[in-house]
Amino acid sequence: MIEVSGLTKRYGNRTAIEDLSFTIEKGHIYGFLGPNGAGKSTTMNIMTGCLAATEGEVKIGGYDIFEQAEKAKRLIGYLPEQPPVYQDMTPDEYLLFVARAKGLSRAGAAAELARVKSLAGIEDVSKRLIKNLSKGYRQRVGIAQALLGGPEVIILDEPTVGLDPRQITETRALIKSLGREHTVILSSHILSEVQAVCDEIMIISKGRLAAVDTPDNLERLLAGSVTLELVVRAGSEEAFAAVSGIDGVESVRAEELGGGLVRLTVAAAEGRDPAEEVFFAFCDLRRPILKMNPVRASLEDVFIELTRDAQNGAAGADAEKEETGNDGDIQA
Ligand code: ADP
Ligand code: MG
Repeated sequence: MIEVSGLTKRYGNRTAIEDLSFTIEKGHIYGFLGPNGAGKSTTMNIMTGCLAATEGEVKIGGYDIFEQAEKAKRLIGYLPEQPPVYQDMTPDEYLLFVARAKGLSRAGAAAELARVKSLAGIEDVSKRLIKNLSKGYRQRVGIAQALLGGPEVIILDEPTVGLDPRQITETRALIKSLGREHTVILSSHILSEVQAVCDEIMIISKGRLAAVDTPDNLERLLAGSVTLELVVRAGSEEAFAAVSGIDGVESVRAEELGGGLVRLTVAAAEGRDPAEEVFFAFCDLRRPILKMNPVRASLEDVFIELTRDAQNGAAGADAEKEETGNDGDIQA
């Protein structure tokens, strides 16, 4: 559906994104995840034809976004990070204005307005001035605008920034429902958000693509080695000795829990899973294991690992952007 190849954007001598290449398949919800200044908005602005690239190519449904802009743009609806605000219009007026700009006929526009207002849940407020709407409703008006004309791809830049928790939940549900009929790309600096909404995550760090995968696979990526956590009815020295001799066990930590119980944290050597040997070791001692859990790396660990250098001011990230940037951190 979308092919991005070798995309680079430089502002003067600052590189915002560098050599980004990826493919967006139909029918998924993609999340661009990255810290502020990573290059998410720059990428989205170029993909939607709002900003020229320094190098590289974007094809939407086979059409080049720069060379065949009109055809390419017809396939996308875009909610930018800072949507143009028409404070003194009502949602009805604003949506009609956008629908006409998108080339819909007057009659076609009326039906289309009704459709997107219902989808975005803004029928009740459609005759009020936009400046009097809550941020949540204004954001819905922006989403309704992106839906006009039924484009195949909906691109939303930080759609939940500045919303209160209830509005965030509602907006996420709306985005999920859009995923049934559209290909959706959203950006976020909030890990839990992309994890909750997206089925493909693209981690962007310092203007480069650090990883693309499903939330599950990304978690597995870091969980290369297994850690077992268990609670055993045994003395700590006895338990430590029983486990530390097992082949494939790299390190053991034992912690007395009282009541004759011990908690063991067993780190396996890379590529090894000693769970069964651990089980039989305690069977032989007739020491019951009350609990045994494999501990997986969380997606949060993956995110931190993959964006680690981003804080050090490399290519895309810069302190000044962090300060003036998004006010969304309170939601993390
Ligand atoms: P994100 O959306 O992930 O927070 P951006 O795409 O907005 O990141 O920014 C990526 C980098 O490009 C940042 O270092 C930012 O300061 C820089 N940048 C963005 N827009 C401009 C601009 N108009 N002029 C100069 N630098 C910019
Ligand atoms: Mg941004």
